[in-house]
Amino acid sequence: MATPPPGYGAGPYGPYPPQQGPYPRQAGPYAPQPGPYAQQPGYPPPPGPYAPQPAYAVPPQQAGGGCRVCGCLPAAPATVRGHQGLLVVMRFLSLPGPFCRDCGTATYRRMSSDTLWQGWWGPLSLFITPFTLLLNLGPRAAFRRLAEPAGGFRPPLDPGKPLWRRPPALLVLVPVLLVVLGIPALVVTGLLLREAAPPVLAVGQCVRNAGDWKDQDLVVTDCGSARAELRVSKRLTAGEHCAAGDYLSDPKYGGGDGWTVNCLTPLR
Ligand SMILES: [Zn+2]
Repeated sequence: MATPPPGYGAGPYGPYPPQQGPYPRQAGPYAPQPGPYAQQPGYPPPPGPYAPQPAYAVPPQQAGGGCRVCGCLPAAPATVRGHQGLLVVMRFLSLPGPFCRDCGTATYRRMSSDTLWQGWWGPLSLFITPFTLLLNLGPRAAFRRLAEPAGGFRPPLDPGKPLWRRPPALLVLVPVLLVVLGIPALVVTGLLLREAAPPVLAVGQCVRNAGDWKDQDLVVTDCGSARAELRVSKRLTAGEHCAAGDYLSDPKYGGGDGWTVNCLTPLR
């Protein structure tokens, strides 16, 4: 590596011919490399270090041994849980480890997936199911941290599809959708109802009746408008009467107590 710099320095820009010089030199550096590569043939030695790995036979010494399903190592002593709601009865399922990475992940996915559709069917289960699913996140994380399983008496389980790509995962969307869609629905309903609330009439305002007289739908209208039909002429109090020819507004337009009635005088 020290050889190239001299080449660059020397070839300040009269360069190109000189470069030819460096190239031959490179041949030099490459020549040495065969040295290290020669060592690689010594790759047989690595088998040496790998040979100690047969010390993998040692792991069984790790307390508890390997995966309960396949015997592989490494394995984590985590417990995967499930829940079944059966209207009145409910079942708490648990499968203690140790699990290797793949068997643990497979077990986590299967039990969580089952819980997603079997878990909700009971009043208490509604609350226990999300709790169970959350509890499983701990073991899931533990399995993920494990190295690739090896050395078992049978192949590890196939972890299969991620939980969120299994159909039961859609069921978790039901409560989510209820909340996500339910709140806006309540707000919109509230706004519509408020908009539909009858206006409280004030003396001097003009209205038109978009309904009939038994089921009034009074709409406040500009008095100068051709559509205005009636003027609110008086707010009736006990013992008073409207002028002859007046209409009475429905109490729902009186506001507050629901008893106040207005006199409506035809404009023409
Ligand atoms: Zn396993």
